[in-house]
Amino acid sequence: MRILLGLCAMLALAACSADDDAAATQNGIDGARIVGADSTPGEWLTTGRTYSEQRFSPLDSINRENVSELGLAWFADLDTARGQEATPLMIDGTLYVSTAWSKVNAYDGATGRLLWSYDPEVPRETGAKACCDAVNRGVAAWGGNLYVGTLDGRLVAINRATGAEVWSQVTVDQSQPYTITGAPRVIDGRVIIGNGGAEFGVRGYITAYDAASGEQLWRFYTVPTNPAEGEQPAYLQRAAETWNGEWWSIGGGGTVWDAMAYDPELNLLYIGVGNGSPWNQAYRSPETPGRNNDNLYISSIVALRPDTGEYVWHYQTTPGETWDFTATQHIILADLEIEGETRRVLMQAPKNGFFYVIDRETGEFISAHNFVPVNWATGIDQETGRPIENPAARYYRTGQPFVSSPGATGAHSWHPMAFDPASGLVFIPAIEAGFPYIPEENWEPAPLGFNVGIDMAAGAMPADDNVRRAAATGTRGALIAWDPVAQREVWRVNYRGPWNGGVLATAGGLVFQGSAAGDFAAFNSETGEQLWTAPAQTGVVAAPMTYSIDGVQYVAVLAGWGGVWALAPGTLSYTSGVVPNVSRLLVYRLGGTAQLPERLPVQERALDPPPSRGTPEQIATGGRLFGRFCGVCHGDAAVAGTVIPDLRYSAALGNADTWRSVVIDGVLAQNGMISWRRVMNAEQADAVRHYVISRANQDRNLASPTVNQLGAR
Ligand code: CA
Repeated sequence: MRILLGLCAMLALAACSADDDAAATQNGIDGARIVGADSTPGEWLTTGRTYSEQRFSPLDSINRENVSELGLAWFADLDTARGQEATPLMIDGTLYVSTAWSKVNAYDGATGRLLWSYDPEVPRETGAKACCDAVNRGVAAWGGNLYVGTLDGRLVAINRATGAEVWSQVTVDQSQPYTITGAPRVIDGRVIIGNGGAEFGVRGYITAYDAASGEQLWRFYTVPTNPAEGEQPAYLQRAAETWNGEWWSIGGGGTVWDAMAYDPELNLLYIGVGNGSPWNQAYRSPETPGRNNDNLYISSIVALRPDTGEYVWHYQTTPGETWDFTATQHIILADLEIEGETRRVLMQAPKNGFFYVIDRETGEFISAHNFVPVNWATGIDQETGRPIENPAARYYRTGQPFVSSPGATGAHSWHPMAFDPASGLVFIPAIEAGFPYIPEENWEPAPLGFNVGIDMAAGAMPADDNVRRAAATGTRGALIAWDPVAQREVWRVNYRGPWNGGVLATAGGLVFQGSAAGDFAAFNSETGEQLWTAPAQTGVVAAPMTYSIDGVQYVAVLAGWGGVWALAPGTLSYTSGVVPNVSRLLVYRLGGTAQLPERLPVQERALDPPPSRGTPEQIATGGRLFGRFCGVCHGDAAVAGTVIPDLRYSAALGNADTWRSVVIDGVLAQNGMISWRRVMNAEQADAVRHYVISRANQDRNLASPTVNQLGAR
């Protein structure tokens, strides 16, 4: 064997390498190579490894018997200290990964040597258009190129060998609050990319571009526009029958910001469609007696012809959604035996908390069951496939707040699941967390910031240790092994907090997942027993992948705490502990001996705000504005996570001029802190300052120091 490997090194011939290794002589990626991915299981050619997006690897060199010997092979520090959500690709021995701010790096997969780095130079002001951090979830490969969607709405082709830009297309109206965070997919030379922005007010769509030239081939809108503007395609005409009012004036939502899957036999592309914009349906599409109000195709899975973008079928998970219940979550294709029959299905665990099994040829509903506790619906009607709603959940009808479980961040978000075809189990990175939907009277959309149509300020966490503890207790995460045929949980691993990593399953009988608390672990896929763990020194939210070079299996995961749970939920950002962002690519192998640098200690920071001298009116005004415009990044009730500055500690609190120069004049716009002049005047900005001072004083006076008084270095 040693001689053989020596010969391989001398001749550099792919034919010498072990069967499961990367094929080093094949350069171009095409459909046959992706469809035939199992013949080169050492590679990882598309974000979910295969078009079926199972995120299952046939590699088994690392298995239950030896996983305890797993060690760090190499690591690479990243230059973007924001949430890291991408799954790397591995092609011909090279690892390709996108990082925050839509950068792309290429590494030698065996040694970790950086081969090239590509920076699309996303203007940092774009961050204010992103609901959930400056993240990117991955690249796609076709021919000799890679493709990345950038936060500011471009689709860029990069030469895979050199990192040089080949072409770039703006895929959105950049004057609108569109962003791109999802990974493109490529089908038969068509690069398909969606976008996000439904919290702000946009109309969702996906677009296909020619992989070689960048020419636009087709665009598929998910929601109809104003019927008075003329004829629309038939599928949108039908959709328009399910909308009311003037939904087009704020876009309607339905962004396709993450999941796609493809069945080459059926020639169907499946897309996951997001929430309505604004969330509150009363402002988006007011109920009209005698008229349908499902709002197609939001919160739906839609099947399309990938060559033309033609609509084929849809299944709507949450008709008329009003809770940010997207159906953009990971879609997995598999063939399951159900009641003695092999069914071609797709599976999704969307935000709404139900696990769905759908016939992927016809869109027919097969089954659904809740995988976490759910209170907005009591189940799914087996005949109609529609949720049986709790009447209290439609808060705009009752005019009363409704604390929904799951809430706006979902029972499951973008964090990929995995499916083990041998055991038939799906492994779900689940979230258990509520969210208060508080209707707001006379709500108006604003030209900047969140436009969700509910009162974001009224639900702010009070400065009360008991309330905070109770809320934290009800906010947690789990890795759930789910039997999709029986629709039941088989085992679970509980986590203290939500927002744990995506999942990888392997033929080694293992499930890999990182946690929000900063560990990366391997579990027995049959029992959930933890077999191995390593410290990641930061929260892991991305999904791991695995590859093989020269007979050595590696497991790679991008580490770097971020995303919505690291920003918006205030004290609840800390349910997994105080987690700093340390952005790194971590790569493991059996017997790996690399060492991470020593972990920097988390330093306790004493709150030392100026005395609170704002009038009650100022503080109330500031609180309303903060909840509407600031809290999404700087945290609920002015308690930030560890990724974006916590304003309670800001030196500018004591200096009204400095505060105004940042909030109104936008002097920090190049850091991402844009001017908010379009939505507040200088006096209102000062009211926000008084609100934050007031909050800082409240928290300083809490009886016991709570986690929110700790900060990262
Ligand atoms: Ca959303």
